[in-house]
Amino acid sequence: MQTGFKLHLLVGTLVLLLILFPTVHWGIIPFGMIPFVAIALMSGAVLPDIDQDSSIPRRVLNGAVFVISLFIFASLFQSNWWLFSRPYGDLMAIALAVLLPFGAVWLVDLMMPRHRGILHSGWAAALFGFVLFLALALINFGLFNAAVIGASGFVGWITHRAVDFLGDRA
Ligand SMILES: [Zn+2]
Repeated sequence: MQTGFKLHLLVGTLVLLLILFPTVHWGIIPFGMIPFVAIALMSGAVLPDIDQDSSIPRRVLNGAVFVISLFIFASLFQSNWWLFSRPYGDLMAIALAVLLPFGAVWLVDLMMPRHRGILHSGWAAALFGFVLFLALALINFGLFNAAVIGASGFVGWITHRAVDFLGDRA
């Protein structure tokens, strides 16, 4: 059995439901937290495969990097108009418009750890949960809520590891 995107989504959803039904019902997790817990857990369940070239999260990342690079180019272009209006400035602008997004995606590919490397470790799971917790605590989400969401992200990431471990290492 190959452990693909859909399987990670499916197992993530099952674990999410298993956690949500009792904790929300008994008032341990507030009702309003349901969407945030779901987003954190499901993100954790699918994000580790960002280290695999053709995976869905990786394609989303590459697409986002490409589009953001185009925006960066556009703002460079506007704030350095004088540079691009000089001789050959038009050619430079066109070259930059192509090189910047493709170069950025190439850099992401270069820096990405190998598939099922560090991103598939418990350390990555813990780091993901901690970063979520820290970010939400810093924007005044409340310590308890931030901790719940951080823990959800951690649990999601762990379900990914469990599925990869039980499935074929394809
Ligand atoms: Zn994986």
